[in-house]
Amino acid sequence: MATSLALSLQNEKPVQFLDCDVEEPDAHILLKPLLSHQQTVSIPIPRVDEEKCTYCGKCAEVCVYNAIAVVGKKVLVFPELCHGCGACSYLCPEDAVSEIGKEVGILEIGHSKGVEFIHGKLTVGEAMAPPIIREVKKHINRERLVIIDVSPGTSCPVVEAVKDSDFCLLVTEPTPFGLNDLVLAVDMLDRINIPYGVVINRDGVGDNKVEQYCHQEGIPILLRIPLDINIAQLYSRGITLVEGMPQWQEAFLNLFHRIRHIVAGKRKSE
Ligand code: SF4
Ligand code: SF4
Repeated sequence: MATSLALSLQNEKPVQFLDCDVEEPDAHILLKPLLSHQQTVSIPIPRVDEEKCTYCGKCAEVCVYNAIAVVGKKVLVFPELCHGCGACSYLCPEDAVSEIGKEVGILEIGHSKGVEFIHGKLTVGEAMAPPIIREVKKHINRERLVIIDVSPGTSCPVVEAVKDSDFCLLVTEPTPFGLNDLVLAVDMLDRINIPYGVVINRDGVGDNKVEQYCHQEGIPILLRIPLDINIAQLYSRGITLVEGMPQWQEAFLNLFHRIRHIVAGKRKSE
């Protein structure tokens, strides 16, 4: 969806594509960008100066992630739990906590078929996706139409990736699993006040409960992609839908115009 939308729109407007599914980025397989820049992403991990430390325990008290503990006359830091929030160093009364960078992933920038491309990659074994997503989003180019590819679900990385967007396109499938995830995603977007619409992928499989739910909740169904072996084959060969079946381009352009209409309506009502 995201790659086909980007390619369909790039003749209309300059497009920037961000792959924020940093645990499993795969848009590069379809867009095949020419990457020209790479940088590492680090988070600040505390280092305690035992000469200055009085073992007061304040750092452990403020750490909501249990990443630092004071045991007798020892301060233990657990880097794999640390979110790099800086609270322990900020609040240490003895100024005994400094910070060292810990690499958690990389960011790569390039171009593909006229589209500016950026993706983040979480290092295998690391758990902190949000700092990489934040780093990718720092490169948002407001002169361009920005399309962000987001991982499935409603976890912290998803919230980090979708927050501050004008609109969120929820791609689901008409099955009980699809409906379950859709209901959770709708709840999350309502809470962070981002407008949304639905794309039904693999339309024709499963039942009509997703459709019923959308009608009942007044959620627009903006596009349906049928269950079609030719589409699956294109995907498995690393070819985007609109490149393999150019007749879909118009549907993606219409999709964008409907989204723009919804966003404009929301702005007017605010
Ligand atoms: S807050 Fe500072 S002084 Fe207190 S235990 Fe932690 S590192 Fe030591
Ligand atoms: S930087 Fe934040 S998450 Fe890491 S140990 Fe300190 S308080 Fe905890």
